[in-house]
Amino acid sequence: MSVAPSTTVLLDHRFARELPEMALPWRAEEAPDPRLLVLDDELAAGLGLDPAWLRSPEGVRLLVGAEVPAGAQPVAQAYSGHQFGGFSPRLGDGRALLLGELTAPDGTLRDLHLKGSGRTPFARAGDGLAAVGPMLREHVISQAMHALGVPTTRSLGVVATGRTVLRETPLPGAVLARVAASHLRVGSVQYARATRDPELLRRLADHAIRRHHPQAADAEHPHLALFEAVVTAQAQLVARWMLVGFVHGVMNTDNTTLSGETIDYGPCAFLDAYDPATVYSSIDTGGRYAYGNQPRVLEWNLARLAEAMLPLFDEDEDRAVELAVAALGRFRPEYDAAWAAGARAKLGLRPDADASLGDELVTLLEGARADLTQTFRALAVAARGDDAPVRALLGAAPAVGDWLARWLAAGPDADAMDRVNPVVVPRNHLVEEALTAATAGDLAPFERLLDAVRRPFEARPGFERYAAPAPPEFGASYRTFCGT
Ligand code: AMP
Ligand code: MG
Repeated sequence: MSVAPSTTVLLDHRFARELPEMALPWRAEEAPDPRLLVLDDELAAGLGLDPAWLRSPEGVRLLVGAEVPAGAQPVAQAYSGHQFGGFSPRLGDGRALLLGELTAPDGTLRDLHLKGSGRTPFARAGDGLAAVGPMLREHVISQAMHALGVPTTRSLGVVATGRTVLRETPLPGAVLARVAASHLRVGSVQYARATRDPELLRRLADHAIRRHHPQAADAEHPHLALFEAVVTAQAQLVARWMLVGFVHGVMNTDNTTLSGETIDYGPCAFLDAYDPATVYSSIDTGGRYAYGNQPRVLEWNLARLAEAMLPLFDEDEDRAVELAVAALGRFRPEYDAAWAAGARAKLGLRPDADASLGDELVTLLEGARADLTQTFRALAVAARGDDAPVRALLGAAPAVGDWLARWLAAGPDADAMDRVNPVVVPRNHLVEEALTAATAGDLAPFERLLDAVRRPFEARPGFERYAAPAPPEFGASYRTFCGT
C-alpha cells in the first residue's frame, strides 16, 4: 500500500485517537481498474478539495482508498445495532472505512468515509463490496435530499472499481466516498454500552458532545443534554422525511445518527400515491419501516439510545430511568411541532395559522391516494385562483371543497409555497431507469436525473417527465433491495 506523496488532503483521526476501542485500523482492497463515475464538484470545493485534482488518477485513487494521505489512519468503526428489532452486538463497518476527518474551509469537521472498499474484520458473511447501482442510488438520493433542505450525509463521488460483484447476477463494483458530520450512530453508543466499560461510554458521549452538540457541555447534566439534543435533531429530521414523502426503508439503530443527518440510502424511496402503509424494502415483510411508521420507529430507536446511556444519566438506575423517560417524552411534542411548522410552510400559511389544516389535508391525501409532491404544487395554483388541478388530484368529495374553502380563507402565499414545495423528487421509476442504464454503462440518464433533482423547486422546460408520477403499473409492485 503506497502513500500519496503530493496530496494536499489533510486528515485528522480524532475518532480513532479518542475511541481506539471502537476503531480498527484497516485498509481498502485494491481496485483493479478505478474509473470515476460521478463527482460532486460543489461539495468538493466546499471541503477545500480541488475537483480537478480529485478527477486526476491520484485523486481517484484517494476516492477508492488506494492512496491514503500522509498521516491518515483509516479505520473500520465498531458499532452494534437493532436490526428489525433484534439486537446484533457486533455489526461495524463490514465494507466501509473511515479515512479520517477533514476540516473544511468554513471550519466544520467532516468525516471522509468509503463504502464498498472491501472486507473488514466486521464483514461476517459479506463480501465487503458494493455495486455501481446502489452506490449511484445513494449519490442521487442524497443529492436530492440536500437540495430539498433535508439534513443528510453526502456523496462526494462514486468510482467504479473494475471488479465484478456477485449478487443475483454479476454486477460492476463501485466505491462511494461519503462525507458526513460524523458516522456516530445510536448503534455506536449501544456498542460502547455492551462493552460494559463505563469509561468508554463516557468518552464516547463526551466525543459526541464536542463534535455535534457542544452546547450540551454547558448544561447542568451534559450527558442528559446530549440525549435531548439527539432527540430534537432526530425529531426534526423525521418530520422533514414525512413532509417530503421520503421512506428510509431500513431504520435500524445503526442507521440512526447522533448528528441528525440521514444516513445509509439502501432500500429508500419517495412516495408516489400517498399511503402510510407504503413499504419499498424487499426485506421489510412486516412493514416495520413503512412510511407512516417512521416517527414511531424513530422514537423506539431513541428509547434504545436512552437505555444504552442510562449509566451516564444517574448512578441510581431508577433515577436514571426516570430522567430517560422524561427526556424521551419530548420526542412526540417536538416531532409534532416540527411537522406542524413544516406543514404550515408547505400550505403557505403564517406560523400562527390553524395547524389542523395540515392534519386534515393528510386525511384527504390518504383518501384519494393523491401524489404528495404534485398536490402541494397544485395547491399553489389553487392559491392563485385555479383549483382544477388540485381537485383533479384530491377528488370530488365534499370534504375537499370544504377544506379548500377554509384553507383559501386563511390567505395562503403561493410564492412562499413554491419556494418550499418541490416540483421534482427522485421518483422511483426514474431512479430505476437511470441505475439500470448506468449499470449497463450508459451514464446519460443518471446525469440528467442528477441535474433534475439538484434544482427541485424549479419547473424547468424539458424536465416535465421528472415532475410526473410513475405509471400506475410501476407503483404497486415497486421494491428496492437492501444490503447490495
Ligand atoms: P446496512 O444494512 O447497509 O446498514 O448494513 C448493516 C451491516 O451489514 C453493517 O455492519 C454493514 O457493514 C454490513 N454489510 C452490509 N453489506 C455488506 C457487505 N456486502 N459486506 C460486508 N458487510 C456488509
Ligand atoms: Mg448501515
